[in-house]
Amino acid sequence: MKVLVINAGSSSVKYHLYLMPEAEVLAHGFVERIGEKTSELSHFCHGNTYTVPAKVGNVGKAMELILQTLVDKEVGILQQISEISAVGHRVVHGGEEFTGSVVIDENVIASIDKFADLAPLHNPPNLAGIRAAQSHLPNIKQVACFDTAFHATIPKVAYMYALPYELYEKYGIRRYGFHGISHRYVARRAAALMGKGKYDINAITCHLGNGCSITAVKNGHSIDTSMGLTPLEGVPMGTRSGDLDPAILFYLEEKGYDVKTLKSLCNKQSGLLGLSGVSNDMRELEKLASKGHERAELAIDVFCYRIKKYIGAYAAILDTVDAVVFTGGIGENSVFMREKICNAVTQIGVKLDLAANKDAIAKEAEINTKDSQVKVFVIPTNEQAAIANDTYELAKGRTSVLCGSL
Ligand code: AMP
Repeated sequence: MKVLVINAGSSSVKYHLYLMPEAEVLAHGFVERIGEKTSELSHFCHGNTYTVPAKVGNVGKAMELILQTLVDKEVGILQQISEISAVGHRVVHGGEEFTGSVVIDENVIASIDKFADLAPLHNPPNLAGIRAAQSHLPNIKQVACFDTAFHATIPKVAYMYALPYELYEKYGIRRYGFHGISHRYVARRAAALMGKGKYDINAITCHLGNGCSITAVKNGHSIDTSMGLTPLEGVPMGTRSGDLDPAILFYLEEKGYDVKTLKSLCNKQSGLLGLSGVSNDMRELEKLASKGHERAELAIDVFCYRIKKYIGAYAAILDTVDAVVFTGGIGENSVFMREKICNAVTQIGVKLDLAANKDAIAKEAEINTKDSQVKVFVIPTNEQAAIANDTYELAKGRTSVLCGSL
């Protein structure tokens, strides 16, 4: 069965065509800079890269171009579009309604639309991707995989903010959490690497990329996560502040900052970029810090310190920790950050094998010493594989995928 996985954002659409159940990627690519003059499609197939500039005004046009490319006589891989048996869509916000992946119908579409209120930058382009896929491939199952779904198991004590209760009832203000497809995937992989069942692992999964979140996984289920109502909460990120005293915003409002400015300040000008003043890219900061750039050093230190606090807190709520898992651009690639973080959390029983850590770049690896009480894994995330897996399961006729096998 061929399954197309779509991740539609506001300025880009990424795609992967899978052969299932082999989980073989037949082709993949992305359309980027949608809506700009210089939009472009990059397509990878048969070991070749194919790049075409194309005027792509919206997500619908991007989908059209992707499908045309997949059946293109020279660079494509399909004879006809009808070879695609199902489409899986990444959807950022599923509110409290979706505890797993679902086959899309009009009710699901209405809910994704409703939750656009909570994820205004993500759910609308996700929905545009779904609508475009439905119009080109009307007779096959379309599946929604939510970034929030894995966190549906977080107990009320962990998802409630200590605000007036009516705000939860009236506006749904609570912790939802994000990066759920990634946290689920790496937690499942870590269990497999330890020879455990998927519901038999306690782990702290650290998704450290441009966006960062940390999740406490107990018996294979998310029981707390650092991102909240929105992806702004938690550890500092590339350009997002993470946790801060909310009174800072009231104070700045009194100094003349309006809401729009404050939103941009917290989401786009803070985090590693705000602290360092030079970059949100950890590679750049590591280079600068090694040459004595004080603010790059500060940004790295704050990042590590705040991750340490979350790992410590999650070790406390988990009681026992089997594994700490690193994923995301920083988690998968930065030998330096992994060493710094692991050295900061030795109290929970983590002992890093320096040589194994050095060798583990963008590949699955166990990087703890033999006598470490807690395993430490580097696991490159693979959200598209998890989406392909859920889509395949639902297309085959399973009625719900609560917590998929990947
Ligand atoms: P992601 O959002 O998961 O794609 O992660 C992107 C981020 O990963 C970049 O902004 C970099 O900060 C970071 N990154 C990627 N490669 C490296 C590396 N070799 N060393 C340190 N950070 C890296």
